[in-house]
Amino acid sequence: MKPSEPRSRISVACPKCGQNIVWPERLSAEEKRKIAGIGRRSRAEAALFARTTLALDLHEAKALAHHISAEEGCCHRCGSSVTSEISICAKCRSANLDW
Ligand SMILES: [Zn+2]
Ligand SMILES: [Zn+2]
Repeated sequence: MKPSEPRSRISVACPKCGQNIVWPERLSAEEKRKIAGIGRRSRAEAALFARTTLALDLHEAKALAHHISAEEGCCHRCGSSVTSEISICAKCRSANLDW
């Protein structure tokens, strides 16, 4: 078997905590919604989901799960409003994945 091609990935650095958040470039809107839905219930479950379905390592999966917005349009850290899919909160400077 040939080794599989590395998948291209998107990476966003969080100015607040300095973590790098990565995910596969070809993530469908449906997958994003699913991960966000899980993450809003349980960060640990979202990390597990990201590990198994997105092939992220433990560290990457945790960083991704941690940065999902608290609910749609709300910063996961301070609750301020965030306005786009990938946002840096104007108040606390945390990166948010508002999926
Ligand atoms: Zn952060
Ligand atoms: Zn914030």
